[in-house]
Amino acid sequence: MTHTAKRFSDLPLNPALISNLESLAYLAMTEIQASSIPVMLEHRDLIAQAKTGSGKTAAFGIGILSKLNPSYFATQALVVCPTRELADQVSNELRRLARATPNVKILTLCGGTPMRPQIASLEHGAHIVVGTPGRLLDHIGRSSINLATVQTLVLDEADRMVDMGFFEDIVGIVAACSPRRQTLLFSATYPNDMRHATSSFLRDPVEVK
Ligand code: ADP
Ligand code: MG
Repeated sequence: MTHTAKRFSDLPLNPALISNLESLAYLAMTEIQASSIPVMLEHRDLIAQAKTGSGKTAAFGIGILSKLNPSYFATQALVVCPTRELADQVSNELRRLARATPNVKILTLCGGTPMRPQIASLEHGAHIVVGTPGRLLDHIGRSSINLATVQTLVLDEADRMVDMGFFEDIVGIVAACSPRRQTLLFSATYPNDMRHATSSFLRDPVEVK
């Protein structure tokens, strides 16, 4: 690590969050973290493009946690992922990042598991929901989830979701979220057709690579 590397402790983050990052051995920010976290802290919409393994999960995780209010029992953040495996990975990483923030409830909603326990969990409330498009849309259709309180919406691996044919589902999910939300789009690639397709989700986004 060079001494020019940007550190999490240089950011205006909660000291408990910074010491938890240190306990995870996250000291220097990756490039995408250094360029995207300040934009998220300004509550701007974001398009973040970076290759796999560049630390995008912690980037948006820190963005979510920096504005989360654990004493407000509502779904404040929604992360949409293309597959169940990725949703599980994101949930695990968010749980590690949230260790410093007491009583944060993170719920994973994916297909291939029964609806009833998910509905019961939603009745108990979750601050952060991570899920796949089909199952999220299923909950929206049954009114078992309320996304009107979502302040941070993350579309993770957006390019893969579009490739997998989830675009229409995502339109439905975005429409169920608060219009005043912050929208964060993370992707390994950002081709022009996707730029066009997602422009209606984003408000004056900052683009970082
Ligand atoms: P991406 O979503 O960009 O493919 P991930 O969010 O899955 O990447 O992160 C890849 C790996 O890097 C994970 O194992 C994560 O724990 C680790 N990581 C993320 N940020 C940092 C950091 N600042 N310092 C050290 N390791 C990190
Ligand atoms: Mg990722």
